[in-house]
Amino acid sequence: MRPVEHTGDLPPVISSIPTKRKVVFLTIDDGWEQDPGFVKEVRDRHVPITAFAMRDAVEAKGTPDPAGGPGKYVGAGKWGYFRQLRDAHVPIENHTLTHPNLRLLAHDAQRREICGATRVIRRELGDSPTLFRPPFGNYNTDTLRAAKSCGIQAVLLWTATVQPGGKIAYQVPDKRLRPGDILLLHFRPNLARDFRILVDKIKRRGYELGNLQAYLDATLPRR
Ligand SMILES: [Zn+2]
Repeated sequence: MRPVEHTGDLPPVISSIPTKRKVVFLTIDDGWEQDPGFVKEVRDRHVPITAFAMRDAVEAKGTPDPAGGPGKYVGAGKWGYFRQLRDAHVPIENHTLTHPNLRLLAHDAQRREICGATRVIRRELGDSPTLFRPPFGNYNTDTLRAAKSCGIQAVLLWTATVQPGGKIAYQVPDKRLRPGDILLLHFRPNLARDFRILVDKIKRRGYELGNLQAYLDATLPRR
């Protein structure tokens, strides 16, 4: 897959940022576990991150993904937690209402998921998201059409995921960071600790952490 895929005048699908600089981008999804220690970490370290909030996770409706171990702060701050992150300069972007596999939904149902999440985020945080991340990375042309009609400017995928313990799970065989990589973390137990380990690891490898929105503004054609 190319780093940026364009389909007509629909929002581009971005899986890495075209750049030659040694810079990678951190994105954090869902929102089940709301450890106040992580907000402090983001504030203290001034590390640029982008959050993709999913309503049912933020509001703790249902059962969180158990992959990170038992949660201690599940739904603790609800949207107040994301207001704190926003106040720490973290853009809060769209990751649907209920985390469905969008490929299994018709256009109208996809639109309800995406526009619905935009409405909730605008109501709770005051700003409308401009980026969308499809759950599981699953999307189709209807997703792009729906996202566009909900005011989304780009669909963001990722290059590698970060596991509990700060371990990077690469999708490339040589297991190296590359300029422009987008890393995906989740709001899981021990995120503050894993985040510290990860940021130190990235810096040791000579990479900086980039501001995603600034790079997108430079990369995408103005519309
Ligand atoms: Zn997700």
